[in-house]
Amino acid sequence: ARQAALATWTGPGATADGHPVPLLANIGGPAEIDAALAAGAEGIGLYRTEFLFLDRAEPPSIEEQERAYRAALDAFPGGRVVVRTLDGGADKPLRFLPTPAEQNPALGERGLRLFRRAPEVMDVQLRALATVAVPELQVMAPMVATAEEATWFARECADKGLLDVGVMIEIPAAALRAADVISQVDFVSVGTNDLSQYAFAADRGLGAVSGLHDPWQPGLLDLVALVAEAASRAGKPCGVCGEAAADAALACVLAGLGASTLSMAPSALAGVRAGLAAHTLEQCRTAAQAARAQPSAADARAAARVHLPGLA
Ligand code: PEP
Ligand code: MG
Repeated sequence: ARQAALATWTGPGATADGHPVPLLANIGGPAEIDAALAAGAEGIGLYRTEFLFLDRAEPPSIEEQERAYRAALDAFPGGRVVVRTLDGGADKPLRFLPTPAEQNPALGERGLRLFRRAPEVMDVQLRALATVAVPELQVMAPMVATAEEATWFARECADKGLLDVGVMIEIPAAALRAADVISQVDFVSVGTNDLSQYAFAADRGLGAVSGLHDPWQPGLLDLVALVAEAASRAGKPCGVCGEAAADAALACVLAGLGASTLSMAPSALAGVRAGLAAHTLEQCRTAAQAARAQPSAADARAAARVHLPGLA
């Protein structure tokens, strides 16, 4: 009966002993705001803004951007909305900003790097965000490799009056030097999809190497732990917004590693909420330790499950 009650409960994310883990939604456009609300998301943990920019001969106007950002903020009063700046390039080429042919697009001029060549595009996006800025708004940059890049982004945001600024940690070097990166911003969010791609040198879209992309890989868990520990030492929030957060057992492990928020596809929220509510923070920590002590993804999953009864 308790399991059934937990499965239909839509309150805020928390462990069984009341440790809060806000549960947020990843969305890729305004059409998904309703799904996030219906699933009881406490906010948006990753607003992918590429939809505004793809397949266009000109970048969107500042007014169009303001409307899009305001719609998300209006939907979550008192919550939080993390808007990620344009993550163009690689698999998301921009018509208005063609990149010269690259042999390794995933390692090329993408994400924040693109803004070095086109600072006016970032300028307009940050000004649009500054116009709608309310306490709920958090702004973060994708594909940050170094503390120097974080510094540059944070300064650009501060110039526009944006006060709550973070970066994604999705490049292994940024995870290894998390303390330096975090010192430059207000929060970080781990993107496990790209972090896995780069840590295992395995294309995230290629079926032939998908085995390496198991988010239970102990090597990936170690990187997340490094970031969460650095964030905790700095007293700053560390979210996880990659697909790993959508697996209920792994979500418990991520909370046990020290993730302070979890963001996922709206359809995964109910399962993760129920999984967290059924286990204490101590169980999550023990499961995380047990998983990290294993030599393989399959062993890590099995070892964590011992401490997370009821979760597959
Ligand atoms: C990630 O890389 O984990 C992530 C959340 O961003 P995206 O999937 O949009 O690259
Ligand atoms: Mg990414």
